[in-house]
Amino acid sequence: MSTVSDYFGSLVFDDRVMRANLPADVYASLRKTIDEGRELDISVANAVAQAMKDWAVAHGATHFTHWFQPLTGITAEKHDSFISPSPDGSVIMEFSGKELIKGEPDASSFPSGGLRATFEARGYTAWDPTSYAFIKGKSLCIPTAFCSYGGPALDKKTPLLRSMEVLSKEALRILRLFGNESAKRVVSSVGPEQEYFLITREMYEKRPDLRFTGRTLFGSKPPKGQELDDHYFGVIKPGVEAFMADLNDELWKLGILAKTEHNEVAPAQHELAPIYTTTNIATDHNQLTMEIMQKVAARHGLVCLLHEKPFAGVNGSGKHNNWSIATDGGQNLLSPGATPYENAQFLLFLCAVIKAVDDYQDLLRLSVATAGNDHRLGANEAPPAVISIFLGDELNAVLEAIENDAPYAGTKKTQMKLGVDVLPKFNRDTTDRNRTSPFAFTGNKFEFRMLGSSNSIACANIMLNAAVAESLRIYADRLEKAEDFETALHEMIKKTIKDHKRIIFNGNGYDDAWIREATEERGLLNYRTTADCMPHLLDEKNVKMLTSLGVFTIEEMRSRRDIMLENYCKSVVIEANTMVDMARTQISPAIEAFAADTAKSVAAKKAIAPELGCRHETGLVRTLTGLIDEIADRTDELEAALLKVRDAEDIVEESALIRDNLLQLMGELRVPCDKAEQLTARSYWPYPTYSDLLFGVK
Ligand code: ADP
Ligand code: MG
Repeated sequence: MSTVSDYFGSLVFDDRVMRANLPADVYASLRKTIDEGRELDISVANAVAQAMKDWAVAHGATHFTHWFQPLTGITAEKHDSFISPSPDGSVIMEFSGKELIKGEPDASSFPSGGLRATFEARGYTAWDPTSYAFIKGKSLCIPTAFCSYGGPALDKKTPLLRSMEVLSKEALRILRLFGNESAKRVVSSVGPEQEYFLITREMYEKRPDLRFTGRTLFGSKPPKGQELDDHYFGVIKPGVEAFMADLNDELWKLGILAKTEHNEVAPAQHELAPIYTTTNIATDHNQLTMEIMQKVAARHGLVCLLHEKPFAGVNGSGKHNNWSIATDGGQNLLSPGATPYENAQFLLFLCAVIKAVDDYQDLLRLSVATAGNDHRLGANEAPPAVISIFLGDELNAVLEAIENDAPYAGTKKTQMKLGVDVLPKFNRDTTDRNRTSPFAFTGNKFEFRMLGSSNSIACANIMLNAAVAESLRIYADRLEKAEDFETALHEMIKKTIKDHKRIIFNGNGYDDAWIREATEERGLLNYRTTADCMPHLLDEKNVKMLTSLGVFTIEEMRSRRDIMLENYCKSVVIEANTMVDMARTQISPAIEAFAADTAKSVAAKKAIAPELGCRHETGLVRTLTGLIDEIADRTDELEAALLKVRDAEDIVEESALIRDNLLQLMGELRVPCDKAEQLTARSYWPYPTYSDLLFGVK
């Protein structure tokens, strides 16, 4: 049997393969492109394409595809075969540098938020050599960016790469001020922890709500939920274990560093965490991971649910975005160092993050906003919709000491002076308070916990990278002009703490008192829904920051706002339509059948023995009939509301109607249906129940 190290990355055209298969000069110039962003010339591209094709064909590939991430949030591919006819009637396998570098998928089927109308109709894909090509099925997949011919990006990768670039540029300016002349790049890394549910395919197929919307729109609470914590700590079931083993194999072959897997709090809920890597690659890998999870699940007779809230009243699924920045030499800039100088540098980067998160709370919030994630944030199971930073008591005490020119208990000196005192090593704070924070410092990285399980991590990291780059840019502008570096540095750190300490919160984020304090006393933003936050993408300060750094153009921002709001509206409208359909064609008829049969049996019993009261059965028939009426009324109301939504003037108005009206009515239709489920004999109910779904995998 082969061991993991034998096949890890076996389907990836990675550095090992490049080094072994490319002429030395080609390898060297490709490396320069990958490491330093140098432009690639066509002769090099031709040689790389040739080697890539030979390697891929040897591994059974027949096709190649540019693999990209349009604004839908999933990945797209267009397959072309390598074959090319020869004059003698046979075929040869061909792949040119041109085909490697650029592709032209039919852009018209991807959302562009009006971008293509204003620019050129066609879009093209461009090779991203910083993310390795890989083989999926019979295709060589080439990670690419997706742009329209007029220039604007139609995807998530392009702005992500731009955000990494500006972050690197501004961070290097700071490092130079601290005397670091050797670092060539600063790289942001991410380790995304992915939560998901596994249910049996057989049950999934029986639920239109799961099939059409990814979540259950009806379903009463199971008698046993997650109260006992027995799932979290329990052994992994054999069916799930087999899935995980198979999944690991697939991911490892693709060079994805799947590391830990465990059960999560809800029954049927699990988590997978990879070892962190560069933001760009982590994003590609997370997209692939989500795709492969679903494929592998299908092979095991299961369905992997990536929706943020598949079951009401049961813990939802998120994604923790562990984020840090490091030099190309491997120095983690969010890790306190061994010398006072390194510590001053650490504090400056820390302050840059604090300032960024406070200044751009809205951007971080909207970077994770979807209809699905709205069900999680603020539901006392995931962080609230209010953004705050958790630093832990120790680090907090250091910042307080700096702010007040006061002694810090951890040092012997009487006063904290930057560049003089050695900071203690901050261990990760593992208290419960930490777990409730949307943005927690965990020793040498920040954990952004608001992402939904189905979100692409690109958006969150674009905003994070850009906002931190902006803080660093402001710092560098000031420090480069300072007469006395150390004094200026000290003052600036002090000022950041003073100006932005409102965003730091080390208490319990699930507490209602916190939301009151955050919004009323501290003035922090609380955008509860996608409809609330998304329009703020176009607020002046946000446009100014993102366009001046070159991360987005104003057209790109407009298109993204529209697409995100469209997604929100479409998902909720599909849910509402599905509810109407299920209530009318399956739920009401089921209740009716049970009520009718019960009524028949009452009549039959009374025919035999007229003195029988049949009190319970008669009452049941009454209640069920009342529920049928209520369901019919609520369904009509929901349908009327859907018509109103259709008449909305524009997407912002439509999203507001959905938020203020439709969602409420959906909740109201659900109530009598769930009540009826509890009263109707199981054999009549058309759907597997929550208990069936949550405890069905063996
Ligand atoms: P947990 O949060 O479950 O306790 P860990 O904190 O050990 O687990 O790690 C969670 C994730 O954080 C992993 O994906 C890990 O690779 C990632 N991670 C660890 N160090 C860093 C770092 N410096 N930058 C980014 N991600 C990191
Ligand atoms: Mg975690």
